Amino acid sequence: MKTPIRIRGARVHNLKNLDVDIPRDAITVITGVSGSGKSSLAFDTLFAEGQRQYIDTLSTYARQYLDAIPRPDVDLIDGLAPTLSIDQKSGSQSARSTVATVTEIYDYLRLLYARVGTPHCTQCGSAISTQTVDAIVETLLALPERTKLTLMSPMVRGRKGAHADVLDKIASQGLVRARVDGEVHLLEDVPPLAVRKNHTIEAVVDRIVLKEGIDSRLDESTRLAVRLSGGMCSVIIQSPGSDEETKLFSTAMACVECGASFEELEPRTFSFNSPYGACPTCDGLGKLVVETRDKSKAFRICPECEGGRLCAAALAVSVQGKSINQVAAMPLVGLPEWMGAITEGMSQLNQRVANPICGEVIRRVEFLLRVGVDYLTLDRSADTLSGGELQRIRLATCIGSGLVSVCYVLDEPSIGLHPADHDRLLAAIAELKSQGNTIVIVEHDEDTMRAADFLIDIGPGAGTHGGQLIAQGTPDEVAANPDSPTGQYLSGEHAVGLDRPRRVPKRGHRLRLEGASLHNLQNVKLDLPLGMLVGISGVSGSGKSSLVVDTLYPALAAKLGLVAPTPGPHRKLTGADKLDKLVPIDQSPIGRTARSCPATYAGVLDPIRNVFAATRAAKTLGFKAARFSFNSAAGRCDVCKGIGFERIEMNFLSDLLIECSRCGGKRFNRQTLQVRFKGATIADVLAMTIEAAQEFFENVPKVHHLLSSLVDVGLGYVTLGQSSTTLSGGEAQRIKLATELARPGTGQTLYLLDEPTTGLHFSDVQRLLVVLDRLVEAGNTVVVIEHQSDLLAACDWLVDMGPGGGDRGGQIIAAGSPELVADTEDSLTGRFLRPRLA
Ligand code: ADP
Ligand code: ADP
Ligand code: ZN
Ligand code: ZN
Repeated sequence: MKTPIRIRGARVHNLKNLDVDIPRDAITVITGVSGSGKSSLAFDTLFAEGQRQYIDTLSTYARQYLDAIPRPDVDLIDGLAPTLSIDQKSGSQSARSTVATVTEIYDYLRLLYARVGTPHCTQCGSAISTQTVDAIVETLLALPERTKLTLMSPMVRGRKGAHADVLDKIASQGLVRARVDGEVHLLEDVPPLAVRKNHTIEAVVDRIVLKEGIDSRLDESTRLAVRLSGGMCSVIIQSPGSDEETKLFSTAMACVECGASFEELEPRTFSFNSPYGACPTCDGLGKLVVETRDKSKAFRICPECEGGRLCAAALAVSVQGKSINQVAAMPLVGLPEWMGAITEGMSQLNQRVANPICGEVIRRVEFLLRVGVDYLTLDRSADTLSGGELQRIRLATCIGSGLVSVCYVLDEPSIGLHPADHDRLLAAIAELKSQGNTIVIVEHDEDTMRAADFLIDIGPGAGTHGGQLIAQGTPDEVAANPDSPTGQYLSGEHAVGLDRPRRVPKRGHRLRLEGASLHNLQNVKLDLPLGMLVGISGVSGSGKSSLVVDTLYPALAAKLGLVAPTPGPHRKLTGADKLDKLVPIDQSPIGRTARSCPATYAGVLDPIRNVFAATRAAKTLGFKAARFSFNSAAGRCDVCKGIGFERIEMNFLSDLLIECSRCGGKRFNRQTLQVRFKGATIADVLAMTIEAAQEFFENVPKVHHLLSSLVDVGLGYVTLGQSSTTLSGGEAQRIKLATELARPGTGQTLYLLDEPTTGLHFSDVQRLLVVLDRLVEAGNTVVVIEHQSDLLAACDWLVDMGPGGGDRGGQIIAAGSPELVADTEDSLTGRFLRPRLA
């Protein structure tokens, strides 16, 4: 066995001088409750140092910043390989990337189309060919003896003007005839040309009757014709006993029917991110932004390329009858078979060119199939993919790249994935390992833990209560460890669930959506019982988001008079009158600026500022509440403008953040920090964890109440002033949930949550479940889109979608109690529920 990666004395964030060994060429899963320090170990220590050591090997440009890159606070890491992270946040998710570009499969497709594609004329659709002069001469020589040939050089085709210069040019070559608008004239007899009319002019180069020995003259004349026109030769052919016909030959890419000429094909012809390939109307986006009445952003398909993103010439190139955008629009699942057959009927030369390219495409697509995204298409724009989908696609790309001796750090790869698809994902990760790589995964999913070679359990609690090594070893060893909270759930000692009977739907108390047909939805009718905890389940791509997030939610919002995007197509929605409020609680960031933080979002900073303004010191100094805001110029540090750090742009690497030299990260100026409440400055308060602050403000009910609800959803470990940009999607979602919990409830609210268990340990899921159940107890309805089987089993009602993803999904296959879904033959979800309901 290789020596492990040794980490000694890690103290990043809450880590307490942690010593761990991570086996190489193995899969290690880091577990622990949310906030225990898993990411601090995996990303902020291991990956950060791996990347630093890697930058050391890079250009001098990058190296000059090396000293500025904070070394993670760790005594020693050795045995570290180059480290790559596959997380859900980073990377470009622009509308300019697609599944094909992210996976690099598009590079191979472009090459394929440039090399072996058949171009077609965009005017008349006929195939375009290119020939050498020798080939043209050979074709003509093959005609019967005594055929009369008139060799001409096309000079002007259907262009307005008198064209005297063109006639002069023909004369200057010593030629005496021209065919003008279909009639042959001596140059001196050409009638005056009307300036406003379209004309076609061909220089008559030679007239030849085919007979033996004529080949060298034919060759010479053809060359002249081609040279004069810049690549073309047209010939009037009069064979004995047949009609006269005119044929166009071309040494450049040109249509032999209409003569339109085209650029030579090259890979960039097929790039929608290049001016050579992009559709000029939509600039390669495939859609146009349209101004709507309410100024919200809406799109319509580009009328020029019809969504194909490419210029007409590129879209007119085919391989086995399909254009590159048609191939990109095929569901991934069918691609390998189609690709495997495309060389049939190709010339041997083309087959030799195409075979390795197709092989590479197939290999990469097969990796995508393995990570469970078979329902996607290559042309799907990356900005419409979920974080989990994007991460799985990156994972497939890494496997496809075939790198060895790399340490990959993954963040919850199971997110958004139905348990039925875990096996394939785990097999893909195992493949990455077997290529000779080390895999470190931060994960909460039980299957992933059980598939690991090694578990590292961090805890026992979150924040200051965590950061220690609780258990390590094989999954069985950890399950047998009574000190490990993770082990307790693995062994079945603890289980997630609610201690109460399931609710049954109240008659007539429901929401009904009919005829939903967005994306893959097949005219779906959804009955949603109100006043219950409802789970929406189904494999990835089955249509859960299309139904609930993109149709039900905006349709309901419109009924309640809220601003929302246009709902997906549906026939009608009834029952909305039984609700008075709709609260979506998603995982989008709670603020995009570095100044926003949990305290600002939850609204607890306002009452805290009032507490400071009410102190004697503040009154003496004349400081009002606003002074204690980092948005106020008077109160904050002027160097960093209240952010606490300075940003250095690094071109191709992510920006570097360096603690502010003036305030040392405290964000306020010295005068503001003179004011103290119970001995603490406003900066000290922002540095407190929510849990500590809850105790600190025990006697300030308004603050205490808000902080308690944050603690209830398991966020006690987060510091009040932590920048929102460092919060995970799951944490942001729980902050929103807590903020809602603290508001007076209406008892008729519908809460909608998309995968709230993301980032949650079993014990956190349990806590969340209790909080959601409290909302339902108060009469509200909670709808969760989920994969986590324990949470689904605890719901009152499930709506299971499927049976598969994409075209194979889009239907509700079971709706009712978890027991009913478990008894449904076709339901993949049912299979995973059964053992939990026993
Ligand atoms: P986990 O990955 O187990 O959920 P983290 O490693 O993200 O836990 O967090 C461990 C502790 O470190 C928490 O108290 C968290 O609030 C804190 N923390 C995480 N990121 C940062 C950061 N960028 N700055 C300061 N504290 C952080
Ligand atoms: P789920 O939420 O169950 O994972 P989705 O509703 O996201 O499923 O997807 C259902 C189908 O609709 C899939 O085939 C998916 O690829 C497709 N789809 C989802 N969003 C879009 C989109 N923005 N554009 C095109 N197709 C989409
Ligand atoms: Zn277009
Ligand atoms: Zn500062």
